[in-house]
Amino acid sequence: MPVLVMKFGGTSVATLDRIRRAAKRVGVEVAKGYDVIVIVSAMSGETNKLVGFVEETSPLFDAREYDAVVSSGENVTAGLMALTLQEMDVPARSWQGWQVPLITTSAHANARIEEIPTANITAKFGEGMKVAVVAGFQGISPEGRITTLGRGGSDTTAVAFAAAFGAERCDIYTDVDGVYTTDPRICEKARKLDRIAFEEMLELASLGAKVLQTRSVELAMRYKVKLRVLSSFEEQSDEAGTLVCDEEDIMESNVVAGVAYSRDEAKMTLVTIADRPGIAAAIFGTLADAGVNVDMIVQNVSEKDYKGHEGGVTDMTFSCPVNEVKRAEKALADAQASGKLIFDKLETETNVAKVSVVGIGMRSAAGVAAKMFKVLSNENINIQVITTSEIKISVLIERKYMELAVQALHDAFELDKTS
Ligand code: ADP
Ligand code: ASP
Ligand code: MG
Repeated sequence: MPVLVMKFGGTSVATLDRIRRAAKRVGVEVAKGYDVIVIVSAMSGETNKLVGFVEETSPLFDAREYDAVVSSGENVTAGLMALTLQEMDVPARSWQGWQVPLITTSAHANARIEEIPTANITAKFGEGMKVAVVAGFQGISPEGRITTLGRGGSDTTAVAFAAAFGAERCDIYTDVDGVYTTDPRICEKARKLDRIAFEEMLELASLGAKVLQTRSVELAMRYKVKLRVLSSFEEQSDEAGTLVCDEEDIMESNVVAGVAYSRDEAKMTLVTIADRPGIAAAIFGTLADAGVNVDMIVQNVSEKDYKGHEGGVTDMTFSCPVNEVKRAEKALADAQASGKLIFDKLETETNVAKVSVVGIGMRSAAGVAAKMFKVLSNENINIQVITTSEIKISVLIERKYMELAVQALHDAFELDKTS
């Protein structure tokens, strides 16, 4: 039998009614002759609640216990979805990560999938089971402990299952009807795309568009999984939603394909550090060891002969997610106390956001950065940090201007229109 993977996100399984609606959708595909692997998220709000419990109990928590707690939301929806399908006379069984077993690395709270053995589930399909409902977001480490795949990780579970089982398609059912030029919740002119290239989707996801987890796009690209994003709230045809596909399979394309934002960023500056070889390695090595995901980095111009520092001093600014600030502060303070790092002070700002424009067309078009900076200056928005790559430009700005920046950029690059 051909296999289909269907993933339902948090809002799509938020109530028993919605689970029933999702189960009906699964029933339609079973009736077409598919063996279906359903990946479920926790009910919406549930993971946030569990993360809150962990952070309140232990601000610098042990990530192994974080995983033990936050993985539990998916167990509930997996069991409920299997029961709902059984009530509809569809033979279904739920699977937690360890039962598959979905093997991951030991990087708790942010583990990567290493292996998905197909034998157990395939054997059950052979016995007449029609739907395997798998708890998304979770796996098991080589040490035998429960792991989770990072926020939004059920998307990655879904794509990894599609790759492992050679599924005909991986359908990601969510609360919007596809991938848009930007988040339709903050820009009413956002336009739904029928298709988007893997590379653009990868960039948008990694810059904050949470409609797909970055790793899921990476895996789909690598294993050539046919990946589709669509709404669980509407009747769907086979052409509905957005197909994530190769660049060659897209006819029309704008220079800028989309605008992404990441709201919860923090900016930290180490003031007065020695400017000599090895300092950046010491700072960012310390942060990496503490599990801090540093994103943008700027090193200021060196000031010579400051307080007798040979070779001069400088300031180093970097950004990281707001919820990693405590970890970063502790790691840097410990490094200072042990003499590994010397700096005058650490300044933290937690009121910044990152806004990015993305497009494969930027490889060959000049002037996108200039236009972006002009648009922001017209809105009187100060740019604090800039980073660029071949197909994106990102700026760090004060958070209160984030929505305005996204809307102004969407307008200026005319993303509401097709080229
Ligand atoms: P789920 O719970 O189904 O996994 P998520 O909340 O993780 O859903 O992702 C869907 C959300 O992603 C949408 O509600 C939307 O607000 C947001 N989003 C951000 N950028 C985009 C985009 N470019 N296109 C579509 N949705 C986007
Ligand atoms: N429930 C997890 C989260 O909220 C995983 C997911 O929904 O993809 O991050
Ligand atoms: Mg999600």
